[in-house]
Amino acid sequence: MIDPFGRKITYLRVSVTDRCDLRCVYCMAEQQTFLPKAEVLTLEEIERLCAVFLRKGTETIRITGGEPLVRRGVIGLIERLGSRLGAGGLKELTLTTNGTQLASVAPQLAAAGVKRINVSLDSLDPAKFRAVTRWGELSTVLKGIDAALAAGLQIKINTVVLKSVNDREILTLLRWAHGLGMGLTLIETMPMGSIETDRLAQYVPLSQIRADLAQHFTLTESIYRTSGPARYVEVAETGGRLGFITPLTHNFCESCNRVRLTCTGKLYMCLGQEDAADLRAPLRATPDDGMLEDAIDEAIGRKPKGHDFHIDRRHVSPAVPRPMSLTGG
Ligand code: SAM
Ligand code: SF4
Repeated sequence: MIDPFGRKITYLRVSVTDRCDLRCVYCMAEQQTFLPKAEVLTLEEIERLCAVFLRKGTETIRITGGEPLVRRGVIGLIERLGSRLGAGGLKELTLTTNGTQLASVAPQLAAAGVKRINVSLDSLDPAKFRAVTRWGELSTVLKGIDAALAAGLQIKINTVVLKSVNDREILTLLRWAHGLGMGLTLIETMPMGSIETDRLAQYVPLSQIRADLAQHFTLTESIYRTSGPARYVEVAETGGRLGFITPLTHNFCESCNRVRLTCTGKLYMCLGQEDAADLRAPLRATPDDGMLEDAIDEAIGRKPKGHDFHIDRRHVSPAVPRPMSLTGG
């Protein structure tokens, strides 16, 4: 799959549910309305779609949401996709999770062939963690992280930096993550979905955080790259790696290799654009994959060059109305 700008599309993010057991302030409204279950693809339909993408050259699949681990039966899906690792064409199967369910499923994830996971965690202070997630228990997530490390999973912690919430805590988070052998990636809040909070008030440019950290640590540009959009530095004092995802201060689109499938079967070619292709209709029309393959080819053929995210006083409404929980982060 090659898009009109010559980019090879090898990375598929699959949102298996729009539901979540938390309500992070930058992601969802407190009274979030979720999709009716009838609109959501079955796990078998998701698996069939993934199989078609693998045949067309997908190498990495990331399972995400919403919170993927709250979808009933998702471990079975991960196991079946895991059996396609290697000879089945899949090079990497990963997961992004809020960590609340990890304590019970970490060994099953490792057994399914998952090697690396991203866990989202914005604060190590229980009260702040609760405020950001609206009701989450920090200790549950920390137990989940312990279980995942014990199961041999490599972890990258994802932290959305929020002004006056955790922007002064990054040093602590960095020492903690690197001390446990985990990576840390910082994310700028992106203008997606309607939430009750003021995004302009939440936004901190990561260039500012990086300058603060450089007062305490020796940061050296790293040549390390994953199939994601982060750019990395090595931290000499901890021996760990620190990533920055800066959609607003640095446009990461030139090297974009990914597309996103929602739990209703919509394929978004860009996180920051409205255009999507409906794969559910061709999927349900016939058990033959021909129509589906044509629909995917047509969609990849119109992948846009990049997004148009802005946060400033002239652009206070979301750049795209759908939240990250629908498209998958
Ligand atoms: N529930 C899982 C989790 O939190 O890891 C997976 C889905 S969540 C939508 C994926 C990632 O998107 C999380 O790291 C989250 O912090 C991030 N995210 C959600 N809304 C965002 C926003 N508006 N700006 C930046 N990052 C966002
Ligand atoms: Fe749920 Fe993840 Fe969104 Fe937080 S960021 S509300 S954990 S989907």
